Amino acid sequence: MIFEIDKIGEEGRDFEVLESRQHFHIDVPDCVLAEDVKIRGRLEKIGAEILCQGLLATSLSVTCTRCLSGFGFPVRNKIEVHFIAKPEDGKTGDEIELTDRDFEQEFYEEGRIDLSCLVRDLILLSLPQVRLCREDCSGLCSQCGTNLNENNCGCSNEELCDPRLAVLQKLKDKSK
Ligand SMILES: [Zn+2]
Ligand SMILES: [Zn+2]
Repeated sequence: MIFEIDKIGEEGRDFEVLESRQHFHIDVPDCVLAEDVKIRGRLEKIGAEILCQGLLATSLSVTCTRCLSGFGFPVRNKIEVHFIAKPEDGKTGDEIELTDRDFEQEFYEEGRIDLSCLVRDLILLSLPQVRLCREDCSGLCSQCGTNLNENNCGCSNEELCDPRLAVLQKLKDKSK
């Protein structure tokens, strides 16, 4: 996903790319990039800066935090980033003037913009800490491990003492 700045032109440049999922190396046990990544967007020159705005779409295959089954997680994300020239060695970051702090900022080097890292980060950031296959996922039985979305194992989980309730019970006993 490399764009030559020379080729952007004064009127800007619209682009649409489909990058193979292997390109991003998102492949850990509970999170795999399941689809190629579609990116539509526009590049514009603003002085020496390049503004990139667009949308990315793909899908991850992730593991449900509660029941541990795999499910597809669609990713739709906005891209809004300013690329500025990477400061040459010897110059400090203070000399970089920020034109628009609402936008994320990245560096470009050798007259080229590479969207790969940015897109990879956006994909990973779209994933919540707790990933549920569905909002009301029942999870696994704490006694026998049955997936309670699929089967009812019949274990009486209510008899299990909830540690939070145990604390309350203790307090109650004390106050007697
Ligand atoms: Zn689940
Ligand atoms: Zn059970």
